[in-house]
Amino acid sequence: MTFDESERSDFPPPNWIDKEPKEEEIARETRGFTTESLEETRSIFDPGRNTVRSETRVGICSFCLKVLDERNSLQCYYGGQICAKCSFSYNGRPVCRMHVETNIGDKVDAIVLSGISAKINKEELKKLSGIPIDVLEAAKIRLLSRRCITSGGFGLLGKFPKLTPKGIECLNTMRTAYENDLDFSLFLDRLRRFNSVGSAAQ
Ligand SMILES: [Zn+2]
Ligand SMILES: [Zn+2]
Repeated sequence: MTFDESERSDFPPPNWIDKEPKEEEIARETRGFTTESLEETRSIFDPGRNTVRSETRVGICSFCLKVLDERNSLQCYYGGQICAKCSFSYNGRPVCRMHVETNIGDKVDAIVLSGISAKINKEELKKLSGIPIDVLEAAKIRLLSRRCITSGGFGLLGKFPKLTPKGIECLNTMRTAYENDLDFSLFLDRLRRFNSVGSAAQ
């Protein structure tokens, strides 16, 4: 198959390089729902060709990539669209998995908060989680600086820190986000068993 030269000159278009359009070049940006999907349409003015072109994107969940519709679309508090299944609640606001990890706490933070809340010292927590002491200690310092826990040791010689209201809220969100991950659910199982053995021995 051959192209006619006149067609070829327009393909790819001269301004094909898909750089982000400058703000003033976006003549109009609309965001609307259709029954099937959440579509985002924007009209971009191309000063070189003196034309306006229209771009339509279908809204998809930033985590599972499912096409979003009106009933199944949430705005992550930290930015981005997600579906209801991929949303976790933090202070009553929807948050996606990625932002739970980056803005609320990662799995090690969740393990340390769970351990402190169950009054498990760091040696026992190392055995239950398989995470080295220095990594657990670093997470504890991080959680203290984020005001998720009060100052204190980590069992044995020092008294236990306490979870602050913010720490409790963070842990609740992290637990719902990570509870279906095999490593985290195994840790929670071991923690539960450890606690029941501990309380039976008392
Ligand atoms: Zn999703
Ligand atoms: Zn997010």
